[in-house]
Amino acid sequence: MASAKNYRGRLAPSPTGYLHLGHARTFWIARQRARTQGGTLILRNDDIDAQRFKLEFVGAMIEDLHWFGFKWSEGPDCGGPLGPYSQSDRTRFYRAALDQLRTGGFIYPCTCSRKDIAAAARAPHAADDDEPIYPGTCRSKSPSTIHSPPSTRFNWRFRVTDSETISFHDENLGPQAFVAGKDFGDFVVWRHDDVPAYQLSVVVDDAAMQITEVVRGEDLLKSTARQLLLYRALGLAAPRFFHCPLMTDKTGVRLAKRHDALSLRKLRENGVTPDNLRRDW
Ligand code: GLU
Repeated sequence: MASAKNYRGRLAPSPTGYLHLGHARTFWIARQRARTQGGTLILRNDDIDAQRFKLEFVGAMIEDLHWFGFKWSEGPDCGGPLGPYSQSDRTRFYRAALDQLRTGGFIYPCTCSRKDIAAAARAPHAADDDEPIYPGTCRSKSPSTIHSPPSTRFNWRFRVTDSETISFHDENLGPQAFVAGKDFGDFVVWRHDDVPAYQLSVVVDDAAMQITEVVRGEDLLKSTARQLLLYRALGLAAPRFFHCPLMTDKTGVRLAKRHDALSLRKLRENGVTPDNLRRDW
């Protein structure tokens, strides 16, 4: 276990919309945990997905976080020893990890379309999961079956070991266990549009930025299990994990960037103060 002195936590928002109260609460927990352990908090701009992120949200994100009372000692706005802190500037690191996975035989090229996968999916995927369980159509393809430059675009997928249980201790929720092939399948690490997938970029960065504890929403529990497989395959030490309950609106629906009324921006415009918002936390 890392000593209290070198605790390193991170806030890793994606600039795809205005931050809302749910983000603020998860981040506040991250901040408190870093503070109580005398640690360092870093801000990372998870802007890898150029199709979804908008530049205007990067500035807004930093402004809203400052307004709410967050401070960080390393980040895209202030630099630091383990930068760059914007994912769009880190592609070379993701590419190196992809090469390592390919050389190690952990990944394979997959030419299936989203439609093929949806049609062939073995089991209905859980509503909270972002990626349907891959039916395994391209599993036996080896990297050498793809000619360079590729004539067709493809995803690189990580091959899981069916029935392997991935267990970990969550600092908030206690023991967790997920079964590969059942809770999630072979997952994409590099997308057909030449963008590293979330699972890969986040592992590469959390390791490179020496994060000792990842604080995130509990909707990402299964992603954490997938990421543990990547840490292992890449020979990297995994951080600890603390998954927070998700914030819901009055009707029990999970807050999302479309809940405009609960965006930090709107709340601030309406004269709400951060102190008031944090009263019950
Ligand atoms: N940028 C990711 C998000 O906003 C980070 C999630 C995480 O890995 O904690 O969903």
